[in-house]
Amino acid sequence: MRATVIHGPRDIRLEDVPDPEIRRPTDAIVRVVASCVCGSDLWPYRGVTDTTEPHRIGHEFVGVVEDLGAEVSSLKVGDFVIAPFALSDNTCVHCLRGVHTSCERGAWWGGEDEHDLPIDGGQGEAVRVPMADGTLVATPEMPDDASIPARSLRRDVHRTPRGALCGSPSRRDRGGGRRRRRGSVRRPGCGPVGRRAGHCHVAPR
Ligand SMILES: [Zn+2]
Ligand SMILES: [Zn+2]
Repeated sequence: MRATVIHGPRDIRLEDVPDPEIRRPTDAIVRVVASCVCGSDLWPYRGVTDTTEPHRIGHEFVGVVEDLGAEVSSLKVGDFVIAPFALSDNTCVHCLRGVHTSCERGAWWGGEDEHDLPIDGGQGEAVRVPMADGTLVATPEMPDDASIPARSLRRDVHRTPRGALCGSPSRRDRGGGRRRRRGSVRRPGCGPVGRRAGHCHVAPR
C-alpha cells in the first residue's frame, strides 16, 4: 500500500510500505477513508521538531474496520471509526477522568506502542490500530460522503481543548501546584478548537 513517510524538513514522500496486519490481539486494521494534514505535522516539516529517522506521519484519519484482533470486543468489521490523535486504553486513571492524551499506556501515530512495535501514521491507505477498544470511536451509522469532513474534525478538535482545560495530574505534580477548582480561562480564537473548548465541561475532583 502507499503511505507518507517523513525523512526530514521539507522532505515527505509518498512511498510503498508493507500492508498493516494484526500484531497483537487488541489491534484493529482500519482502511482509511479520509486523512488530513494537521498543523502539528508542519512542525517536523518545517524543522521545528527533529526527525531523527524516517517514519510514517499523519494522525488525523477516519475509516472502516477491516480486521480485528481476538480480544477486541467493542468493534466489528465494517464499523466506521474516528481515530483520535492519540492512542489510549480508556481504562487507566487519566482516561477515566477524560484526559486520554495522558493515558498511562498512551502512544502516538507514527511512533511505537507499549510493545515497541511501530505504529502506522494516519496518512496511508490503511493503519494498524493498537488498543483498538480504547482508541477508536465507532459512529452509529455509516456516514455519507458529505458528512465525512465534519466527522474528521472531531479527531483532533475534542481532545485538544479538553486536555488543555483539564491538564494532567502528572503535569500538576511536576509543577508542584494544585489545579484550581474555580476560575476563568481565556479562549483565543473561534476556530473549531476554540469553539469546542466552549463546550467542554470540566469537573475537577
Ligand atoms: Zn492534529
Ligand atoms: Zn489510559
